[in-house]
Amino acid sequence: MAAVIDEAPDAVTLRLQLGEATGFLPGQYYNVRLAVPGRPRPVQRAYSVGSSPTPDPSVIDLGIREVPGGLLSPVLVGLHVGERLSVRGPYGRFTWDGTDAGPVLLVGAGSGMVPLMSMVRHAVQRGRSEPVVLVCSAITYAHAFYREELAELACRHSWLRVVHCVTRDPDEPRAHFHRRVDTSVLSESLEGVRPHAAYVCGPPAMVESTARALVHVGFAPAAIETEEYD
Ligand SMILES: Cc1cc2nc3c(=O)[nH]c(=O)nc-3n(C[C@H](O)[C@H](O)[C@H](O)COP(=O)(O)OP(=O)(O)OC[C@H]3O[C@@H](n4cnc5c(N)ncnc54)[C@H](O)[C@@H]3O)c2cc1C
Repeated sequence: MAAVIDEAPDAVTLRLQLGEATGFLPGQYYNVRLAVPGRPRPVQRAYSVGSSPTPDPSVIDLGIREVPGGLLSPVLVGLHVGERLSVRGPYGRFTWDGTDAGPVLLVGAGSGMVPLMSMVRHAVQRGRSEPVVLVCSAITYAHAFYREELAELACRHSWLRVVHCVTRDPDEPRAHFHRRVDTSVLSESLEGVRPHAAYVCGPPAMVESTARALVHVGFAPAAIETEEYD
């Protein structure tokens, strides 16, 4: 482990230096295996990469949110610099490399923000100029992954619009919406922008309801890519 970075009260980024750089696409994930006390065999779970594959794909940032009562995530959020992890990958077809023309919509909830952040960081690296609308949903603003970097990126890059939804803090002034992602959140967030594709990541219920809402606001089902964190 090269670094451990606090992301939220219940989440960290684990920065890993890979022994062998296989390269990955923004949106892909690695399987992490670790021995857990009381388990006869190592436990394996999937974690998406939050960093950009450029300039250095041999360093990967995994964003981990602690799931209460879970087997592996509570152990991972307690790891320290210098500890070793076994990872295998990359895997997954939920990818966007930013080479297509036209605006794109990204919608993430909780740790579902991780692969979307890889996409945004990669778009920055590639010098994108076409619009990206990023809708982030979290229980409070403090739980929103990457909130400070995203605020900075949105200030620096006029093509990036960042919209925050918080579900459990009705008084949060930094949030644009104080409810879950729904049809009106999407249509207001997309004012003046007509994306040709949407990428949605988060818990299954959120992904399903967002995909339905996207069809309602005019997206073709084939234009919606999803990744569910079950
Ligand atoms: C493609 C993919 C990418 C992912 N990327 C990320 C990522 O970037 N970041 C991230 O944080 N997560 C990510 N996840 C989720 C991650 O893989 C794990 O599912 C998550 O961290 C929970 O693992 P865990 O071992 O801590 O919990 P688990 O042990 O799997 O438990 C999950 C929940 O089930 C409950 N539970 C477990 N066993 C029982 C039982 N017998 N009876 C009742 N309840 C039970 C637990 O209390 C807990 O609430 C991703 C998932 C997928 C599929």
